[in-house]
Amino acid sequence: MAGLITRFAPSPTGPLHLGHAFSALTAFDRARADGGHCLLRIEDIDTARCKAGFEQAIYDDLHWLGIEWPQPVLHQSRRGAAYAAALARLESLGVTYRCTCTRGDIRAALSAPQEGVPFVGPDGPVYPGTCRDADRHAPDAAIRLNMARAIARLRDLAFDELGPLHTGPHRFDPEALIAEVGDIVLARRDIGTSYHLAVTVDDAAQGVTLVTRGDDLFDATALHVVLQRLLDLPTPAYHHHRLIRDAAGKRLAKRDDSRALGLYRAEGATPDDIRALVGLARRG
Ligand code: GLU
Ligand code: ZN
Repeated sequence: MAGLITRFAPSPTGPLHLGHAFSALTAFDRARADGGHCLLRIEDIDTARCKAGFEQAIYDDLHWLGIEWPQPVLHQSRRGAAYAAALARLESLGVTYRCTCTRGDIRAALSAPQEGVPFVGPDGPVYPGTCRDADRHAPDAAIRLNMARAIARLRDLAFDELGPLHTGPHRFDPEALIAEVGDIVLARRDIGTSYHLAVTVDDAAQGVTLVTRGDDLFDATALHVVLQRLLDLPTPAYHHHRLIRDAAGKRLAKRDDSRALGLYRAEGATPDDIRALVGLARRG
């Protein structure tokens, strides 16, 4: 078999910062050491928040860091048909339902006295299930995964973690996913998909064998494995890396433009300076 295929999958909603540089370099160094490839995927499903200028800046910053990637670059905004097909397959399995709740409806349901303290899952507080058995017909509803029905079809859920933070095989209890992940949104009403569905479909479509990404997504991986198994897609290996934090210990976010790579570059930093700032050895 050829070397591993990993990927860097930024969303063009802001400038790349040191955290992105660490993620991209971790993936790219690993592919290079292995004789494999690191693909670039532009995660631009949220068209209201994505900007062409940010996409061009991603290419410029990565080239400056010395990162190359095979063409063509996959754009999630052009993959609507693939996501619709995956969604149709999940609907045909009977593991989805339509949800017409607004954010306010969900907040109100979660604050009802009998609900207790909601568990915070990959998308925030776990959905209380209001529409689960409601048989909604609204055409513009969101589509949710019925997690209890999904896991009833699956056994032996597991993935291999290769990153240093949680190295080893991870098996997980499907029942725990009902409480800890719950009925997540597969397709938002505005964009017809969600991060979870798109990433699952695209990692498989691109033949990714090692998903490299930040540890903030570790808890979403169990859900991605569930979707892979429902859709008969292979489960890749995972490398969840540490997050780069600012001096106050806070995780860097896109809005922290003070950490934008372009600014370091404008001030005369070199790519090796960036490597040193995120704790990576100089390029050999
Ligand atoms: N697009 C996501 C981000 O920019 C990364 C998702 C992933 O690597 O799975 O944070
Ligand atoms: Zn609902």
